Amino acid sequence: MDRHPLGAFIIVDKELDRRLQAVRQLEIPTVQILAPNKERDPHALSKKFSEAGVEITVVFCGFKGESYADIPTVRRTVGLVPAETQIERLKEAKQISNFAKSLNVPATALHIGFIPEDRKNRDYKNIVAVAQDLADFCASNGQGLHLETGQETADGLLNFIEDVGRANIAVNFDPANMILYGSGEPLPALKMVGQYVKSVHCKDAKWAKQPGQQWGEEVPLGDGDVNMLEFLNLLKKVGYFGPLTIEREIAGEQQIMDFEKGITRLKKWKNMVWNE
Ligand code: MG
Repeated sequence: MDRHPLGAFIIVDKELDRRLQAVRQLEIPTVQILAPNKERDPHALSKKFSEAGVEITVVFCGFKGESYADIPTVRRTVGLVPAETQIERLKEAKQISNFAKSLNVPATALHIGFIPEDRKNRDYKNIVAVAQDLADFCASNGQGLHLETGQETADGLLNFIEDVGRANIAVNFDPANMILYGSGEPLPALKMVGQYVKSVHCKDAKWAKQPGQQWGEEVPLGDGDVNMLEFLNLLKKVGYFGPLTIEREIAGEQQIMDFEKGITRLKKWKNMVWNE
């Protein structure tokens, strides 16, 4: 794979063909996909992507019952942290890792959920053990396990990675999430966790009036508070070579239009930073 290929994050659902067509038209060579929640047929999917000439770089887990309606709802429903669904979701995450393996994809990723900050807390120790279990499973499939940033501070994330202590644990750095959740300035956070970053989301957002209490606003790439040029400069500094995967969390035609606008900008910044 080329260094820093462009990428797009796409959901695998009944709109897949339309999204894939847009990705081809925009000449985006790689994608991260959100695993379908059922009927995970790797052969059909693999064929579709290889015919399109698009490489899947990461498979993301999503779980039934997750809701991003507001920050308290995310806390209650997202990832492997909520106790009621933990066993069942851990099992499903392993199935998704197997699905990724059949697609020949080298990484499984997820939002693990709101990790407690107190390292002595019982729930904290529990989620460390769950992450170790999943990381070991991914390792047995020859994969990395990428944790999407967002809900935790850079300090919290570093502590967690150290406590999990597995070589295949990495970070999928999404600078916009830190703004959306109010979990800290994204660029200083990237400096701190840079050595672990193995994939990124090029996504932009504006701070909420009360960060951490209410959502910030996700906006087209370059229209928000991230400072994407500086973000890419920092990626260069930390020696990141992976895909630059654009993410826009809306659906329909507007998503495709925003992808187009974002990719044009991203190409320009990429040339400024890497002269490629
Ligand atoms: Mg993201």
